[in-house]
Amino acid sequence: MHILKCPKCNSYGLTEKCGCGSKRVRPKPPKYSPEDKYAKYRRKWKEEHKKNV
Ligand SMILES: [Zn+2]
Repeated sequence: MHILKCPKCNSYGLTEKCGCGSKRVRPKPPKYSPEDKYAKYRRKWKEEHKKNV
């Protein structure tokens, strides 16, 4: 089960369809960081993502 986030109204839910009419998507880790402080988080996210495939 995944928590999905609506990019439009920033609400979270388990269904893709949001009450605002937009579609919820999986929250993504930051694409780029000047520092490496998110590297751990990105790796963790990747590992979890892999497990669910
Ligand atoms: Zn929404």
